[in-house]
Amino acid sequence: MGWTERSRQPALPLNGQEPGRVTKSGKQFYFTIDCDWVPGSHVGLESLLECCDRVHIKATIFFAGRFAETYPDLVRECLQRGHQLGTHGWAHGGLEEDEDFRIASYEQQRQWIRRATDAVEKASGVRPVVFRAPNLWISETTLRVLEEEGYHYDSSVPARRFDMGLGRVHYVKYFGAPRDPYRPSRSNLNHPGDSSIVEVPPSSCLFPINLATLRTVGLSKFERMIYWIGQRTRHLVFYCHPSEFVLATEQKFPRSMSKWNQKGMSPDNLIFVDDLLTHVHEVGYVTTRITDTATRQLDLMQPVILRARGLQSEPIYREEGQR
Ligand SMILES: [Zn+2]
Repeated sequence: MGWTERSRQPALPLNGQEPGRVTKSGKQFYFTIDCDWVPGSHVGLESLLECCDRVHIKATIFFAGRFAETYPDLVRECLQRGHQLGTHGWAHGGLEEDEDFRIASYEQQRQWIRRATDAVEKASGVRPVVFRAPNLWISETTLRVLEEEGYHYDSSVPARRFDMGLGRVHYVKYFGAPRDPYRPSRSNLNHPGDSSIVEVPPSSCLFPINLATLRTVGLSKFERMIYWIGQRTRHLVFYCHPSEFVLATEQKFPRSMSKWNQKGMSPDNLIFVDDLLTHVHEVGYVTTRITDTATRQLDLMQPVILRARGLQSEPIYREEGQR
């Protein structure tokens, strides 16, 4: 199907997956799982699925194509349990030189995305419409490929994020991008525009709202980060990786993977997730999938483009909470 035909279709329902619902104005929490291509990490995904069932939440799960190709039954299981399926590059996770969507050509990006999309569709019977770039390395070229491949959502723009040598986001090109969900401009992801893709940026308070940060700073500091973000947007996106819940000795990593990272991997990390989920629900968040983001509100944001000045501490557009 050509992209023009596809882009005329209503955004929902999404190819057989449950239609997204427009939630009331409330705080939305997105529990997202990035399945990098790490042989052996599937055990961690099984544990996370049990955890989601225990607390009755639905996650958004991004699969590297090779993970989906290797563990198709598990991908199908995720769909059957009501989770949203997305893609996360082709072989990301198992490579010494990772897929870099900031600089790769249009053709190359399309190939990675198509192969991953096909792998998830083959495993589950459903064509994914949500994408997350490996390492949150994304570009305007990626947005174009996603539009043309029939995607509707992305969650990769690293707004308010800079890892200072600790993580993998060492570029500040999109530091000043909106932290609320928005439709980006096709020529610059920093600005709202008229893309057919809805961007739901992974939350950050300089450091990312992910399991590595939670483990490093502990729950009480992490709760303060969540509070700070909650003062600025009602959307909170958390992410973790199945590999973080399995001992490193039971998995296969590329040589370039840091030993520090491997040391912290353990099934015990599920306790952090349990505590986090308890906290976010206590402070009033409702967990939803990325495709359930309140799109009606997003559309209202489109005319609110003020100006952009790259790196500045104050948002460059009016955020939802200030309306
Ligand atoms: Zn990843």
